[in-house]
Amino acid sequence: FTAVALDNAIKTNQTEIEGNHAGSIIGFSTHKGEQIHARVASSFISFEQAELNLQELGDGDFDRLTEEGKNRWNEILSKIEIEDNDIDNLRTFYSCLYRSVLFPRAFYEINAEGETIHYSPYNGQVLPGYLFTDTGFWDTFRSLFPLLNLIYPSMNEKMQEGLVNAYKESGFLPEWASPGHRDCMVGNNSASVVADAYIKGLQGYDIELLWEALKHGANNHLKGTASGRVAFEAYNRLGYVPNNIGVGQNVARTLEYAYDDWCIMRLAQQLNRPQEEIDLYRERSKNYRFVFDKENNLMRGKNEDGTFQSPFSPYKWGDAFTEGNSWHYTWSVFHDVQGLIDLMGGKENFVSMLDSVFVVPPIYDDSYYGQCIHEIKEMQIMNMGNYAHGNQPIQHMIYLYNYAGQPWKAQYWLREVMDKLYTPYPDGYCGDEDNGQTSAWYIFSALGFYPVCPGQPEYVLGAPLFQKVTLNLPNNKVFVIDARNNNDKNLYIDSAKLNGKKFTRNYLTHDEISSGGELSLKMNAKPNMKRGVRPEDFPYSYSVYKP
Ligand code: CA
Repeated sequence: FTAVALDNAIKTNQTEIEGNHAGSIIGFSTHKGEQIHARVASSFISFEQAELNLQELGDGDFDRLTEEGKNRWNEILSKIEIEDNDIDNLRTFYSCLYRSVLFPRAFYEINAEGETIHYSPYNGQVLPGYLFTDTGFWDTFRSLFPLLNLIYPSMNEKMQEGLVNAYKESGFLPEWASPGHRDCMVGNNSASVVADAYIKGLQGYDIELLWEALKHGANNHLKGTASGRVAFEAYNRLGYVPNNIGVGQNVARTLEYAYDDWCIMRLAQQLNRPQEEIDLYRERSKNYRFVFDKENNLMRGKNEDGTFQSPFSPYKWGDAFTEGNSWHYTWSVFHDVQGLIDLMGGKENFVSMLDSVFVVPPIYDDSYYGQCIHEIKEMQIMNMGNYAHGNQPIQHMIYLYNYAGQPWKAQYWLREVMDKLYTPYPDGYCGDEDNGQTSAWYIFSALGFYPVCPGQPEYVLGAPLFQKVTLNLPNNKVFVIDARNNNDKNLYIDSAKLNGKKFTRNYLTHDEISSGGELSLKMNAKPNMKRGVRPEDFPYSYSVYKP
């Protein structure tokens, strides 16, 4: 029995159909207990290519294939080995790692000559080389791509080649490939995805062309999509996207463009571009200051004439922000946290604003959306004030305590979030997964460090969840995080050694991890308030590449 379906109408005895939302139904007449093995393959290119893809299954023996699948997953997941006696935490960790590596998805196929080819959603042609899809950079620049760069760099090298191809075929890098260019979310965070990969040593693709793509995307916009920069003219003219020119989410856009400009500046330095180009993007990277309101110590919408948007409520979701409010977006200065501390009037004020996020009530103003969107509900259910971990903008915030000399508060809140918002049960997930980003946050946090600012080859310390972790890195390098007396009470770092030597910094460099070694931590039930407080322990020169 075969049938095809188009737009909900089922037609029997047909085997081919064309159109949107098409499907097929296949039935077999069987005896009781009889087993059917169906071998199915698909292709974005042709029926002939689908037949070729079918050969990947070999003889199609079901048991052998499930065994091979299991082995392949074990190979991928065992890049990180955990030793700990809390089985629930292990289940949560490996479930998160599994979800992290599902995206982006391969969109390429292998032809009869063994060459890598892909159907281009950009120009409709079948062309050589890699292409990947199903990733929104607004989400995944934060820690999903940094996770690939640390643990699975050879995969991201293929993805970077896919970006080269996307630019060749469409003139833009996709901000939300699904596949092709989509009008979804804000920012120009392809700059982060490209810069972080190159700065962390990935190679084998045309970085010069990607550099051209970043410059082009920063100063153009592909109509009807989120690719390039919406309102780039206003941003380049004023330094911010104004609130009153009919472009929504203007503070979110401004903050992300400023960070993206910093990423472009960093790549320009790496590629030895002319000083004027480096200076242009360094200057633009400071644009976050334009939407900072000193009166409230928060980010706030600004009109074209320089006045702030009024009235202002830090509890108002949407409007100047994207799926969040000012409490969530004020921290989106990944690249210049010291600059943000200065704007707030110093470390004390900065810490008090961080504390306030957890202390203010979980109230909200949803008038911009006209309904309570699920991200708001998730924040309320978590019951951590206005800390909204179920959506991406705030996910790096807890780590910022480190920049103001109070690392123990980061350690406390990170454990709270890991324990309460992630569990191995069906309701054990705190919001949108968003192509692996919310899972990648957990992976880094459970290891004990996090890429607060992708594009800077450094990871800010939290505190690990496990007694021992072994990272099996490329080139047979091994990095061990040993925290033997770690448990649900001993959640604070008391002292640390890196490769046997006393270690007082609150960050690790990418090289320190990727070249292999051992971080050993003595944990304690009480915070060590001396550690990470003295300037020499936590230098404010933290941002080595500060704009
Ligand atoms: Ca989200």
